[in-house]
This record gives sequence, structure tokens and C-alpha cells, in this order.
Amino acid sequence: MSAYDGYGGGTSAMAEPVRIHARDAFSGLRLTITIDGPAIRDVRSAEDAAGRAEEGSGELWVAPGLIDLQINGFQGHDLNASGVKLEERVVTVHRLARAIAGSGTTRCYPTVITASSRQIMDIVTAVRIACEQDRFTDSVIAGIHLEGPYLSEQDGPRGAHPKRWIRDPDWAEFARWREASGDRIRLVTLAPERDGALLFIRRLCGEGIIASIGHTAAGPEEIEAAVKAGARMSTHLGNGAHPLLPRHPNCIWSQLGEDRLWASAIADGHHLHPSVLKVFRAAKREKLVLVSDAVHLAGLAPGTYTTHVGGKVELLPSRRLQMADQPALLAGAALSLLECVHEMARLTDCPLAEALDMASARPAKLAGLAFDGLKPGAEADLILFRRGSAGFSLQQVYKRGVPLLAKT
Ligand SMILES: [Zn+2]
Repeated sequence: MSAYDGYGGGTSAMAEPVRIHARDAFSGLRLTITIDGPAIRDVRSAEDAAGRAEEGSGELWVAPGLIDLQINGFQGHDLNASGVKLEERVVTVHRLARAIAGSGTTRCYPTVITASSRQIMDIVTAVRIACEQDRFTDSVIAGIHLEGPYLSEQDGPRGAHPKRWIRDPDWAEFARWREASGDRIRLVTLAPERDGALLFIRRLCGEGIIASIGHTAAGPEEIEAAVKAGARMSTHLGNGAHPLLPRHPNCIWSQLGEDRLWASAIADGHHLHPSVLKVFRAAKREKLVLVSDAVHLAGLAPGTYTTHVGGKVELLPSRRLQMADQPALLAGAALSLLECVHEMARLTDCPLAEALDMASARPAKLAGLAFDGLKPGAEADLILFRRGSAGFSLQQVYKRGVPLLAKT
């Protein structure tokens, strides 16, 4: 038994069906959605789209729960903390799943970053144990994203990944982590220029695991070779690269111009200039997805914090997370995915429905996850929010029909 057995999603036979009245964030139609147990039983439209509410009117909006393919922590819960016992890690995974789901991200790939082989083994083991212990945790964690350690060791592309643990791909090592995770590693970010990377990508591909190009100093030919080997995605394109690049060709243009590659982007208003997001949107079209890449300080109040890797960091009210003694340097991302959706729509003038799509239907399609949206029979993973000029105000999250937030 775990301390988390109280979750009743899917078995609450006593519960009455729940009716939700809200505007569909995709169509603008006013809907009545009936949730029965873990699924949507019925969806009725109360009027046509001519009655659309104005943005920012304070009306309640509804959308499917979001899907984040890259998140390291939330609300103080850090998946990648070092020097932690396995049992504590398991508790962290349970808490993290709840904190992330409570922010409107009802499914995610917790992201394991570069560390010693032993620490990566511990983290993926903790995720497996937590998922086996508890159905809620298992329902939120759709897979694991392994970001590293097979990355570029050069300063710049390496980002904040510790140099001492960066190395060439090693299938035998990866196979041990994969087994310990209960086959939950579904996405691997690596630098294709490393020795053995192309064979590694082919093997990932053969196992149905997404190979994603990231934290790389690869040249155009190496990017092309990675795609030929089966790489399907670019991880947080535009970040994890040299600050100065040849104007063309370079590894960002090569990935941007490669139609076979999906791309994820951190649309937090700090990691990418709005013009870059606009170009990504135009170039990648249906293959652009949003990720939060949030660190554990996301979801906490603005202030100064001490982290075990970065020392003193400052979280500003704008959600910019920067080094306290070098404010020009970012110390990670600190927005929830729902906040990134708002920023994407605000910074690029793209429709809200499209920004939501980038954080729900599209990552589901890329990762091969079930996604039925707001349809009868679909799993009742829903978010309810109000819109204002300053952002979204999350009102409720349903995970398999169970409300997660206390009613205000
Ligand atoms: Zn990264």
C-alpha cells in the first residue's frame, strides 16, 4: 500500500455524473459536457459559434488536458535532485505527478537529465515503482524523456548538463535504464555528432522510441544523417546551441528546414524571441509542439532560491528564472505548459486553439498517445479556465473525471 491509494478515478461507482457548462476553447461553442466516471459521456452544444464570447470576458473555457513531453520538476518537486534515497525519489514522483496534473498538464514525460549512470538508474527506477504503486501517478506519467547524457560536451550546446557525465551513446547502458524503467523511456534527446549516435538512433527507432536531436553542435550533414537514421524530432529548437553560429547553414536552419522533423519549443517569453517562435510556427506548421521544460521552481512564488546545481537563482514575477549574480543568464524555465500556451498565443498572435493544439493533440500524435479531445467516450481529462490579459486563471482540472483542484 502507498500513501496515494485514495485516488478513485475510474472506480467511483457511487459518484453522480458531473455536468460542465463552458465555452469550447477550440470552436468557441458553448458546451454542456457530461462526465460519467473516468470518461466523457455526452457533449451538447447550447448554441452556434455566432454567440462567441469576447476574449477576456471572464467566461469559463474548456479544453482537453495538456500533454508536456519535457518537464523536470514542479512546485518544488525535483525529479533530478541528487543525493536522494530511492524511497524519497518515489515520493517525489507521486508529488510531482499531482503538482503537474494540478497545473492543467494531465499527462507528461518527466525528463531525466545528464547524471551519473547510477543516478539515472535510480530516477527511472523510482518512476517505475511510483507508477506501479499508484494508478493516478501511472495515468499522469505517459513515458519518460531521457535528455542526455549522450549530448554535446561543448560549452553552449551542453547548456546546464554537467560535463563530467556527458558521453558517447552506449546501448547496453541504455538497455539497463530502459529495463529498470519498465520500458517507460519513450523519448531520447541526443547529439547526432557523437560516436555511435547514428546506430543508436536506428536502434531507438527500431524499438519505437523517439530519437530527438538536441544539445547539439552538429553540422548540416550530421543532421541529415540523423534524420535518415530515424530521428523524428528537435528538442527545444533554438536553445541548447552555440550562442554564435555561422549565419547559414547552421544546425538550427538545418533542423528548421527539415520537414520530417517535429520540433518542440519553450514559449515562455524568455527562451526564444517572438520572431523566432513565429518562424518556427510558419516552418514547422503541424509539427510544432510546446514543452514547458520546467524546473522544480516552476509554480512557486517569485523570490530568491538556492539550487543544488545553479547556486542562487532569482524567480521574477514575469516567471523569468535567472542567475542571481548574472541576471543576463537564464537558470531554466519556470512556466507551466498552460502559461506557455498563453505566451505562445500572445507573442505570435496565433489563435488560442492552435496554441492549445501544440500542447495537447500534437504531442499526443507525435508520441502515439491516445487523444480524443472533447468527444463522448474520450477520457475525461479536462481543464477549465478563464482568460484575462495577464494570462489564464485555471479554475479546475479533471483527471479521468476526478476534480483535482479545491473549489474556490
Ligand atoms: Zn535541454
